Amino acid sequence: MKNDPARWVTKVIEKFNTTSDNSLMNPQNEPAWDKPLVGFANGNDPLWDEYKRHIGDFYWTPHEIFELTFPSLSVKPDELTVISWILPQTKQTRLDQRKENSLPSERWARSRKYGEEYNMKLRLHLVKSFNDEGIKACAPLLSPLWKQMVSTSCGLASTWSERHAAYTAGLGTFGLCDGLITPLGKAVRCGSVIARIAIKATERPYEDPHAYCLYHSEGTCGKCILRCPADAITREGHDKNKCQQYVHGVAHEFIKSKFGFDAYGCGLCQVEVPCESGIPGKKGIDNG
Ligand code: SF4
Ligand code: SF4
Repeated sequence: MKNDPARWVTKVIEKFNTTSDNSLMNPQNEPAWDKPLVGFANGNDPLWDEYKRHIGDFYWTPHEIFELTFPSLSVKPDELTVISWILPQTKQTRLDQRKENSLPSERWARSRKYGEEYNMKLRLHLVKSFNDEGIKACAPLLSPLWKQMVSTSCGLASTWSERHAAYTAGLGTFGLCDGLITPLGKAVRCGSVIARIAIKATERPYEDPHAYCLYHSEGTCGKCILRCPADAITREGHDKNKCQQYVHGVAHEFIKSKFGFDAYGCGLCQVEVPCESGIPGKKGIDNG
């Protein structure tokens, strides 16, 4: 751990991913997620303040939520590292979801429910693993203070965004549909933990927040527009209200009645698009 904390953290996350907790909870007990990708960002990165300016004063910097979690500690922002991870959908889940045009496939809906429950456990597991090493850590999404908000500039928002943490940690850039396009594609979920530990920040191989999106970078593609059953994506971007109405309305009712469990999910814009399983235009992408 002491010699190579980045490797230690990555191994903790990868190992947990191989446990039975990573499950779609279907009769076959298939894993919810493939092998994760991990990145690191410094607590002093200027982007955190930029998000606060752009999204709203309610948006936390890593230092703010760390101090809210540990009020008796005196910590400087640059003593903190944000550990961010990407959990990619399995190939089978992507293949199932590709066949759908208006409502999510069962595997996809399961990944939104049981896969996200696993993601919560992973946050907890990483915090505990740090604690076992005598290192203070917190997961913003596990904080009772985390909440959804409405931003005057961005609409629906929250006090901490896993995708913004992943962007800061060099793991991907935003697409036209607001999803994060990562080296493992856009059919992913993200998570993060903040720890009082020094880990070298992952290089951000981009400056433009939309660098990997073909529409933004080349003026082409726009395939996610056609995939959306709610007309929530246009050339102007992603209408979060329309998307949420669909996800919390039609899609929620469908999942309950068809699959028999309570979950919110759609994600049709995340598959059957060039950014599904890699950065579009890059060699070596497995879109199969
Ligand atoms: S489908 Fe095309 S336009 Fe939409 S996010 Fe992906 S690359 Fe961008
Ligand atoms: S999640 Fe569904 S409703 Fe929302 S933008 Fe994507 S395809 Fe449209």
